[in-house]
Amino acid sequence: MYSQDSISGRRRDRPEPTAEMLSGLACLICGTDYRNAPDPEAVVVSHRDDGQLLACHGTCARMATGSVDGLDETPLPLDERIRRHRADGF
Ligand SMILES: [Zn+2]
Repeated sequence: MYSQDSISGRRRDRPEPTAEMLSGLACLICGTDYRNAPDPEAVVVSHRDDGQLLACHGTCARMATGSVDGLDETPLPLDERIRRHRADGF
């Protein structure tokens, strides 16, 4: 069950994921920085090494996984994601 119109209208060239995206600090799809978002509702959509890749609940998650809820997995707390991001040397 895939709604084509919501995808084709938004498709554009996507650059490589940023370090923030790879650390789960920014949406993999739209790039929203969850450190700046007041009340981010992020869901896990993928993995890279040991890290979780997140996207906004809803449209972004559906573009990444086909489900608005993403994967059935709880994201790490933002504080923990920031700590790991720093530990990675960025
Ligand atoms: Zn997003």
